[in-house]
Amino acid sequence: MSVHTAIQWCDDTVNPVMGCCGCELWRRETDGTFRRCSCYAGLLHRLRAAGGATPSQMIDKGYAPFFEQPHKFPGRMMTMARTASLTDMRRYDKPWLDGMPRMIFVSDMGDALSKSIDLEFLHAEIIDTATSPEGSQHIWLWLTKQPQRMAAFFAEQLGGCGWPTNVWPGTSITAQESVGRLRRVDHLRRVGDERTVRFLSVEPQLEHVSLAGNLTGIGWVIQGGESENKRTTPGTPEYDEYGARPFDLSWARSLREECRDAGVPYFLKQLGTRAHDGGEQLKLRDRHGGDWDEWPADLRVRDVPHTGGRGRAKKRLCVVSRGLS
Ligand code: SF4
Repeated sequence: MSVHTAIQWCDDTVNPVMGCCGCELWRRETDGTFRRCSCYAGLLHRLRAAGGATPSQMIDKGYAPFFEQPHKFPGRMMTMARTASLTDMRRYDKPWLDGMPRMIFVSDMGDALSKSIDLEFLHAEIIDTATSPEGSQHIWLWLTKQPQRMAAFFAEQLGGCGWPTNVWPGTSITAQESVGRLRRVDHLRRVGDERTVRFLSVEPQLEHVSLAGNLTGIGWVIQGGESENKRTTPGTPEYDEYGARPFDLSWARSLREECRDAGVPYFLKQLGTRAHDGGEQLKLRDRHGGDWDEWPADLRVRDVPHTGGRGRAKKRLCVVSRGLS
């Protein structure tokens, strides 16, 4: 599944794995019900399955048989790699990407680093493809909520060096807990080296989050409020389960300042469906709050790390000396 996308910070998405072992946005209670389901990928899988599709029909349609049973789709990365280079091309809908290689979001419909997915597959599918002649034309933004497993992948599969410069590893921050107890930023820092552009996707942001003191080694911060599922109506039980939670614009202003102080490019993707400013909910036409013409002028910031990127994807040979001193 390779898709041109409306997501503002990339050109396309690709999913070598569909499905996921779950995260704080997709929690099942002991009685089997879901407490909170604000994962688009999970909802889409449930909707497809609700149409009566059997597990094998789900796979035929390009989905996991069950969302919580991640499924591998080898070859999708190479299909995407063979698309034309966009380096130095204009994007009329996303001018902030002008001049960049094609920016490809890896894993928006699951988490490729889910525990059941073997690391050898990820090496062959993601790293080998991204460093192939076709894949080297593009930038691959590999997002996970399992950065500790991505760090283990780097150590075990690449020997802890030679992370391709055109693969940008990223992790998600939804609340302060992601930085604190879950230590996602610390784990992400263990991926790659000083040439690696690591990114944080602070979306959907559910509370005030401070990254002060945690931006060393981070090359890009993307922020966004939560989007509403369009099938929900305020005041109904489904709204409690699927409805968007508020996003306070003061959270955007403080994160923008922290990034500015740390010299890290900052990109405000969307305000979400329920954006508040000074205690008032904004009336936004765009359901995702992604049209920056509707935003206060001081928040129209979409900086991208313009690092070049042509022909940069070479896997370096890793020379590791162990106990030879
Ligand atoms: S990690 Fe991503 S794909 Fe998996 S449940 Fe959470 S939001 Fe959904």
